[in-house]
Amino acid sequence: MLGRLAVGILLSALIAGYARRRGSLSGSGAVASVVVGATIYSGGGLRWFSALFVFFVTSTLLGRVGRGRKEALRREYSKGDTRDAWQVLANGGVASLCGLAVALLGAGGSAEACLAGGFVGALATATGDTWATEIGPLSRRSPRSLVGLRRVPAGTSGAVSGLGLVATAAGGGLVGLVFGLWEPSRLLVWVAIGGLSGAAGALVDSLLGARLQARFFCDRCARRCEGAVHHCGATARHCGGLRWFGNDTVNLIATISGALVGAFLGR
Ligand SMILES: [Zn+2]
Repeated sequence: MLGRLAVGILLSALIAGYARRRGSLSGSGAVASVVVGATIYSGGGLRWFSALFVFFVTSTLLGRVGRGRKEALRREYSKGDTRDAWQVLANGGVASLCGLAVALLGAGGSAEACLAGGFVGALATATGDTWATEIGPLSRRSPRSLVGLRRVPAGTSGAVSGLGLVATAAGGGLVGLVFGLWEPSRLLVWVAIGGLSGAAGALVDSLLGARLQARFFCDRCARRCEGAVHHCGATARHCGGLRWFGNDTVNLIATISGALVGAFLGR
């Protein structure tokens, strides 16, 4: 296990270092990424790590698609491009715990199938959500809020578009596909687990985003934003949702939900 841990730390540090240089991870985000990557490698070796790698590579590549349009949305909602430790743990923490559980318990049989399902479900949710976030804004039609299904501006938390939903299932399905390639007899089962749990997690994400997530308004810029401090530096006014319920909390609960669905299906 120590050998695996060492390899896991090495591989994760290489990838996190690259992401840090590109500016997609903060210092704390890079450290958290190494912890997440190393625990996943310790638990499931290359097979599990390859699924994590899919999340990393595709979210990096999709981040480059339609940059101009998304840049405008980012300014509006002040969603930064650089992930800190909380963001990394909100997306990867549950998958990391599944890896840790396998590493420590040395689970076999149905317990391991359950943890593997939970791992794929959590990662499928994070991947699907990232794909939807990167691809959804490119949709020509404005998305709909899950509250009352009215159309809302692109980039609004909890809004869903047809394109975003397809992206969610595709992202989750791809995680399942890569994980399933290591076990060809159950390839389609894993694709289904990834697609279904990713879609379920994303649904939870959108519902919480629309219903409970804190919304703020910057009076100086007359713009909505997601944080208590707008990127212009002014303090933003709380104008809806639960004040303490931010995007990271939403993502964490969504990945837990995806993991539960994945664990149930994996069993
Ligand atoms: Zn402002």
